[in-house]
Amino acid sequence: MARDATALALWLRHANAMFANEQAALNALDAAIGDGDHGANLARGFAKVVTKLDEATQATPAALFKLAGMTLIGTVGGASGPLYGTFFLEAAKAAGDAATLDDAALAACLRAGLAGVRARGKAEPGDKTMVDALIPAIAVLDGGGSLAKAAEAARDGAEATKPIVARKGRASYLGERAIGHVDPGATSSAMLLACLAEAS
Ligand code: ADP
Ligand code: MG
Ligand code: MG
Repeated sequence: MARDATALALWLRHANAMFANEQAALNALDAAIGDGDHGANLARGFAKVVTKLDEATQATPAALFKLAGMTLIGTVGGASGPLYGTFFLEAAKAAGDAATLDDAALAACLRAGLAGVRARGKAEPGDKTMVDALIPAIAVLDGGGSLAKAAEAARDGAEATKPIVARKGRASYLGERAIGHVDPGATSSAMLLACLAEAS
């Protein structure tokens, strides 16, 4: 399936609705092992993204992703703002000047986004971060799986952060007290991919 910028904008609109609805739940996850603001951070950031989408139509997927990345960096703050911002900026670079993205091109954008998050945050698999959701999802796409299957893998990856200690971000200060709590960023990454699967 080929998706243009308008079709892909639906992803970001779904994400805005998702994070508005799940803001309190994500804040609660972050309150357990961080500072309780993850839901508010993302709700604020994606609301601003949608405001900008309403102001101007984006000509290409790259322009859309760049707008999202710049806006998230500018409004989300914290650890997750620059990381999600980098995700979308790297996705934009991978999209190039294509007018539409087919499944393979979209997967390449997501793969580049993950690589950007890893380069910026230096988190390894099992560090109890958003990459624990993103890595298995991209692996599904690399294996030819659907976005829906990738979103499921992200959800499972987020769940798998529950029994482990954190080695990156605020939760890493807690040591063993982080055990038993799902990572908020892994959860929001799984939500983001669920929104993409739904929009596509
Ligand atoms: P802050 O911790 O600054 O308040 P948020 O609450 O918005 O920022 O985001 C916290 C999330 O960011 C964590 O749950 C984790 O998934 C993610 N995170 C933190 N540090 C890193 C990192 N170095 N690499 C990848 N993800 C990270
Ligand atoms: Mg926080
Ligand atoms: Mg914070």
